Amino acid sequence: MELKNHQLVDRFKRHLNYLRISITDRCNLRCIYCNPRSSKQKRPHKEILRYEEILRIVRIGIHLGITKIRITGGEPLVRKGCYKFLNQLTAIDGLKDVSLTTNGVLLKDHIDEIASAKINRLNISLDTLDREKYHQITGRDLFDQVWAGIETAHAKGFSPIKINVVVINGVNDDELADLAKLSFDYPFHIRFIEYMPIGKTPAAPAVPLLTPGIKTRIQALGNLIPVTSQTNDGPAMRFKFKDAMGEIGFISPVSNHFCKTCNRLRLTADGHILTCLLSDISEDIKTPLRAGLLDNDLADVFLKAVERKPFQHAENITPFTQPAQMVSIGG
Ligand code: SAM
Repeated sequence: MELKNHQLVDRFKRHLNYLRISITDRCNLRCIYCNPRSSKQKRPHKEILRYEEILRIVRIGIHLGITKIRITGGEPLVRKGCYKFLNQLTAIDGLKDVSLTTNGVLLKDHIDEIASAKINRLNISLDTLDREKYHQITGRDLFDQVWAGIETAHAKGFSPIKINVVVINGVNDDELADLAKLSFDYPFHIRFIEYMPIGKTPAAPAVPLLTPGIKTRIQALGNLIPVTSQTNDGPAMRFKFKDAMGEIGFISPVSNHFCKTCNRLRLTADGHILTCLLSDISEDIKTPLRAGLLDNDLADVFLKAVERKPFQHAENITPFTQPAQMVSIGG
């Protein structure tokens, strides 16, 4: 049967061509801002989408105009079979860009599998360069292992490598210049992400440090020269220091949210199409899929989600704006 030829355009004329897929709600780290040690038990395996189910949803999404996919989690690399899945995903016709967000813990030992799955863009989370602080933030003493993974990915030619730094005042604000300095020695994109108070995490700083303050902290390194954005760029405002190999990016979901140009949908590990990171408006696609509905009916689930996508999230993000933790949504 021919699939309907609708495109994913919402009520505000935004074309949604970017699907972020969380393939697991499990993680090998317990970051204080994302997956706190007190967080609830994970969902049973049967509630999590199987790989073949995700691939079917992706094919339908492509038909409706999805061209860009990011695989995230939880930690995507902890899910059994993920490398075979990545291969199957990148082999699907119609995708222009497939990237992966990882905490880097398993990167070093699996870099060849990631490369052979033709994933060329990696975002790696690293909030500190201090081993002890890494342990405090993530709950595990794995800084050296993650750094070795980053070096290995670099040596293997992955490009660009984006380093995601969630900035938490009082935790890593004293290290922002050191992290930014990495862009002189490596062609990495160091991206400072404003901490979002999502779910009930113990990380919430009394006074948030937002992009203007972050810029001030790294200004001693030189002038930030704007870099022109490319079509597939996300919401990062891009800059470069003179003579640096890499870039600096600022992602400001709190101080300057990018809802107006949002092109994203999310597929959660338990099979919901989530319309906004900071809203619980979602459509369950797993139940109709498992009930044997046809592709056209599943395309309708996509379209229904898009119809309900809010124009923007609340101006003031509070811990209650999105009650789930980031680890279960996918960031
Ligand atoms: N496990 C992978 C990782 O660590 O990169 C992927 C999942 S993680 C949820 C995806 C991204 O969300 C990471 O870059 C993480 O730093 C970011 N993130 C998680 N909680 C956040 C928060 N409260 N505020 C801002 N960014 C957050």
